[in-house]
Amino acid sequence: MSASSKLIERGERSERVERILTVENLKTYFRTPEGLVKAVDEVSFHLDRGEVLALVGESGCGKSVTALSILGLVKSPPALVEGSIEFRGTQLIGLGPKEYREIRGRQISMIFQEPMSAFDPLYTVGYQLMEVARAHMPWDDAEAKARIIDTLRAIHIPDPEKRYSEYPHEMSGGMLQRIMIAMALITSPEIIIADEPTTALDVTIQAQVLNLMQELQRDYHGSMIFITHDLGTVAEVADRVHVMYAGKIVEKAPVVELFEDPLHPYTLGLLTSRVKREYKGESLPFIEGNVPRADELPEGCRFHPRCPRAMDKCRTLEPPEFSPRPNRGVACWLWEEGDGR
Ligand code: SF4
Repeated sequence: MSASSKLIERGERSERVERILTVENLKTYFRTPEGLVKAVDEVSFHLDRGEVLALVGESGCGKSVTALSILGLVKSPPALVEGSIEFRGTQLIGLGPKEYREIRGRQISMIFQEPMSAFDPLYTVGYQLMEVARAHMPWDDAEAKARIIDTLRAIHIPDPEKRYSEYPHEMSGGMLQRIMIAMALITSPEIIIADEPTTALDVTIQAQVLNLMQELQRDYHGSMIFITHDLGTVAEVADRVHVMYAGKIVEKAPVVELFEDPLHPYTLGLLTSRVKREYKGESLPFIEGNVPRADELPEGCRFHPRCPRAMDKCRTLEPPEFSPRPNRGVACWLWEEGDGR
């Protein structure tokens, strides 16, 4: 989809916005013998019906822990989950296990990164899909099977009746990833959280799965949180992007604007290194240095040890989020007074 058509689509969508998820000041900390690990630290964002929000960043920046916190899958204790996660008027933090099960899998479902490890090798995929239907939907087995096969057909699984009776080891990684997408769709959830859904697949299959996800997004009008380290996939699927670094969101932008006008030095670094890698055809690190460990976060701006524009105050004071343009957010001191160029 071209940049302009994405903008037009966003404009149309803005007339019928319905907010379904609001996350405010989410903190997910783990107590470890080495100290307090701040995996997610005061993260705030929202998701509207029908949109795809991408959470982007290097490995270890807190994207997956954010997703697990929304799903209530971070065990507490020893994890500490604080703040607010409101899903269609229901506060999820503090919800009991029974109430959470009503929401997780039924109204919010997840597509994991590793299709091979998400399925039990001892049971057919049909049995495992049926288990999801039995747990969440009021259908009898005959109706559930018919709906499962319809879902498999809708995501272009060839010969779905035959696939239904097969075991996970009889399928390729790409096919299993599609089956996992079907599993997430069976209950017609309000939100799908896709955590690096194409990372474990080879490049050609990645493209097919991404195309499928775009098609589903178009047809089924659900909302999606798309977690990835790959800015290329973000351009394909997302409406808005939040860039995460060391447990914080450092930049928020509509997808087209992020690519055309990145504000945070980290985002700029991610974009530049991506272009360089494509140009040179080699695997370069994203940006010099590494994401700091969550139990060894630097004072001030967490990006300052890697930032080419770091100033004295960056080493001691953590930047708040500034909003230098409409619909934009950037946690960087350069934007404290207007233009940070
Ligand atoms: Fe760089 Fe300072 Fe901005 Fe952090 S606050 S990204 S160190 S300029």
